[in-house]
Amino acid sequence: MPELPEVKTIQDQLNKVMPFKITSSAMSNVAGSIIHTKMDKLKGKVILAVNRKGKMLDFLLDDGRHILSHLGMTGTWLISKDKITEKHTHLQFKSDTGYLAYVDPRRFGHMYLYNEDQSQKKLAELGIDLLDKDFTLEYFKTSLLRYPNRHLKVTLLDQSLFAGTGNYIASEICAHGGVRPERLIKDLKKSEFKKLYDGVFKVINPTVASGGAAFAGGYRDATGEKGDGVQHLVVFYQKECQLCNKTKVVKIVLGQRGTYYCPRCQK
Ligand SMILES: [Zn+2]
Repeated sequence: MPELPEVKTIQDQLNKVMPFKITSSAMSNVAGSIIHTKMDKLKGKVILAVNRKGKMLDFLLDDGRHILSHLGMTGTWLISKDKITEKHTHLQFKSDTGYLAYVDPRRFGHMYLYNEDQSQKKLAELGIDLLDKDFTLEYFKTSLLRYPNRHLKVTLLDQSLFAGTGNYIASEICAHGGVRPERLIKDLKKSEFKKLYDGVFKVINPTVASGGAAFAGGYRDATGEKGDGVQHLVVFYQKECQLCNKTKVVKIVLGQRGTYYCPRCQK
């Protein structure tokens, strides 16, 4: 599933072709399972910019409306000079200079065309974005402590607290923090909160810089590339821990998600 680094990569690429004046649009006959609102009166409208909160892309139109797009498991936006004809293309915009298409084989993505109020309300369901300046150590700690009896990694995945995390980011934060993913939040030490907070940036800074991280069957960016972020991961999808370089990584299932940790580096 695309997480913050992957969605940001796509966002940055989309912004290179903004503004984008929609001269026509087309939808697949199964797009209704992804697009939950009417996509009306788009002809002639201009997408001014693509913003982002967590994993939600926010296409701002020149009439004040917003297209919110969550990529789900396998969704991406593709940019092309030519019409995109590949399978699983569910929405396509044409301009005088090229095409933008939403492609999603498994169709777990979601899309909404909203006015300003509706858009703000939807985005308010999300916590602070990991790259926002308001995502501070204090916010991180306070947010975790709202659920003292929860497992650390499960809460790290909570989008209403931490917008942009996902399964690999949460596993990696635990690794950099030196804390096992199944530890209860109420048992964390003060120094561990700080190490975990610093861990957020040890995960997302290099993966953002590498254009995202792709795993089996997953992500492509808006140019069809997969990104090199996997090489920066220390436990997720790793056989041997990349922090100590000598311990076999353990895989467990926590909150129904595959979770990886190093029994030597994480307490
Ligand atoms: Zn280790």
